[in-house]
Amino acid sequence: MKQLDCDEVKRSVHEYLHSAMHEQELDAVTAHLANCDSCEQHYDIEIVFNQVIQRSCDEAPTSELAERVMQRLREIQDHD
Ligand SMILES: [Zn+2]
Repeated sequence: MKQLDCDEVKRSVHEYLHSAMHEQELDAVTAHLANCDSCEQHYDIEIVFNQVIQRSCDEAPTSELAERVMQRLREIQDHD
């Protein structure tokens, strides 16, 4: 998987909230946010993803994607 640095993630989270993202990108951002203390201080991950999910609901079928992101996030966090 592509590794992102914090600046890339911060830019990506913005895109995240404003437009659709490719699933691979989404996965890379999710993985970084779940593992990076610095980003965790900037973003409440649950809030970020709740926003993503809310926006996604207007544009089916991405709510399914948001659900998968949340699941992936839990998986990543469970491994720590
Ligand atoms: Zn980071």
